Amino acid sequence: MATSDNQRTHLIIVIGAGPAGMSLANQMAKAGHEVVILNRDVKFGGLAEYGIFPNKLKLRGGLQKTYWEILERPNVHYFGNVSVGNGKDLTVEDLRNLGVSALVFATGAQGTKTIGVEGDSAIGVYHAKDVVYHFNRLPGFAERPFEMGRRVAVIGVGDVMVDIAHWLVRYKQVEQVTAIARRGPLERKYNPKEIRAVCSCIDQEALAKEFARVRPRLEAVGQNPDEIFKCMTDEFTKCEPLKTPSKMGFRFLASPRRVLTDGQHRVRALEMEETKLEPKGQDTAAVGLKQYYEFPCDSVVFAVGDRVDETVGLPYKNGIFLTSPHKTNNEPDDALFQAFDEASGTVIPGVFLTGWARKASEGLVGVAKRDGEWCAEVVSRYLETRQPCDRSTIKGTLRLLRGLFEKRKVQTTDAAALRLLEKAEKEHGGSHDCIGEFKFHSNQEMLAQIRRREGTTVSAGR
Ligand SMILES: Cc1cc2nc3c(=O)[nH]c(=O)nc-3n(C[C@H](O)[C@H](O)[C@H](O)COP(=O)(O)OP(=O)(O)OC[C@H]3O[C@@H](n4cnc5c(N)ncnc54)[C@H](O)[C@@H]3O)c2cc1C
Repeated sequence: MATSDNQRTHLIIVIGAGPAGMSLANQMAKAGHEVVILNRDVKFGGLAEYGIFPNKLKLRGGLQKTYWEILERPNVHYFGNVSVGNGKDLTVEDLRNLGVSALVFATGAQGTKTIGVEGDSAIGVYHAKDVVYHFNRLPGFAERPFEMGRRVAVIGVGDVMVDIAHWLVRYKQVEQVTAIARRGPLERKYNPKEIRAVCSCIDQEALAKEFARVRPRLEAVGQNPDEIFKCMTDEFTKCEPLKTPSKMGFRFLASPRRVLTDGQHRVRALEMEETKLEPKGQDTAAVGLKQYYEFPCDSVVFAVGDRVDETVGLPYKNGIFLTSPHKTNNEPDDALFQAFDEASGTVIPGVFLTGWARKASEGLVGVAKRDGEWCAEVVSRYLETRQPCDRSTIKGTLRLLRGLFEKRKVQTTDAAALRLLEKAEKEHGGSHDCIGEFKFHSNQEMLAQIRRREGTTVSAGR
C-alpha cells in the first residue's frame, strides 16, 4: 500500500539487505511506511547472494525474485554500496541525527570467530566465511588467492563445513578434506540433505576405521557406535555424482591445540589433543585428555560460526550486539530486538536488531525471514507511540541523506541501476568458468558496467 501525498506515515531505515533486512523491509512497506535500505554490498541479498552455495540456482533464483519485488515497491528506496559504522560512509550517529522513526540493523554476523589456537595467523589458515565469500565472488574476496594445498582440515561439522568441503572436492579437487570435530559423530551438526553434495567422496572404509578408533570413548558415555555409524552412512543417499579424485573423511574427538608451521610460516600440521565425551545436562561436552599428536595438513579452515562486527558502532559485548535484558509481556518479546545501552541501563529508543545481527549464525534463510517478521511486529508496536510525519518531511529527510552521500562521495546504487547490472551479468552468462551465475569481481567493475549502460545515472547521492 503506497501512501498518497497528504498521508502521514513513518520513515524507517533498514541497514542490511540480507534475508532478515529484506523481510522486515517487506513488512514495513506493506504496512504503508516509507522504507530506506542501506546496504554495504552493491547488490542486495546478503548471504543469499554471497553465502548460499552458488550452484543452488533454484533457491537463489527464488530469493532474488522475492527481493526484486520488495525493492521495486514505490515506497522502498534502496541504496547499495553504503557501509554504516565507525569510520565508514555513515555512522550510527549520522543516522540517528536524521530523526527517522526507527533504525533497524540487519547487518548479519560479519565478524569472524576463531577458537584462538597458537599459530592461527599462519599462511594457509582461513576463516570459513572468507572462503565462502571468495567462491561466491564477493568484492574484496573474489580475487584474493586462497591456496589450499593437497590436504585440508576443516574445523567444524556444520552446514558451512559441508559447503567448504563441497567447493574443495568439486572445484579445487584437493586430495583430502578432513572435517575435525571436538566431539563425536552423534554430535555432528550438518543437515542430512546437505551432505548429499559431498557424500560420494566420503571414504566409508576410512570412516569405519575412525569409528573403531573412538569406539571405547563413545561407549563410555552410553552411545552405540554401530547405530550411529549406520545412521550417519544411511544419510549418504542421493549423493551428487562428482567427477573428482578428492576424498573426504572425519576426525572425531579431536581438539586442535596449535597450528604447526614450516620455516616459511606455512601450515604443515595441526597439533591435536584427544578428547573424551562427558555428559552435560541433556548434551555432551568434550574434555581434553592431554594426549597430543600431529595431524598433517597443508591448510586449515575454521568453520566454527561467526560473530557480529563491532565496528558497526552499536553497544557490543563478547561477539554480540546488546539487546534489552528487560523482558516485556509482548509476543514476540520486544526486548529481544531492542538495542540496549549498558552504560545508561536503557534501550536506545527506535534502534532495533534482527537476523544474524541479533543472533549470529542462527539458522537458515527461513529463520532470518521469520526474525525480520517478528522484528517488524516489535517496530510496529514502537511506531504506535510515535507521531508519523507528513510527506514533505519525509522527502526532506531523503534529501538530507542524499546530501550526505554527495558530501562523502559515496557512489550508491538503486534498484534501476541493479537491473542494468543484472543485464550486464546475463550478457556474460555461459562465457565464464565460475560456479553458478556470472558476477563481476569488484565494486568498480559493477559501477562501471552500470555507468556504461545508463550514462551518468549512477552518481553520488541519488
Ligand atoms: C556458508 C553459508 C551457506 C548457507 N547456505 C544456506 C542454504 O543453503 N540455505 C539456507 O536457507 N540458508 C543458508 N545459509 C544461512 C543464510 O544465509 C542466513 O540464515 C541468512 O543469510 C542470514 O540473514 P541476515 O539478513 O541476518 O544476514 P546476511 O545474509 O549476512 O545479510 C547482512 C546484510 O547486511 C549488509 N551489511 C553488513 N554490514 C553492513 C554495514 N556495516 N553497513 C551496511 N550494510 C551492512 C551486508 O551487505 C548484507 O547484505 C547459509 C549461510 C552461510 C554462512
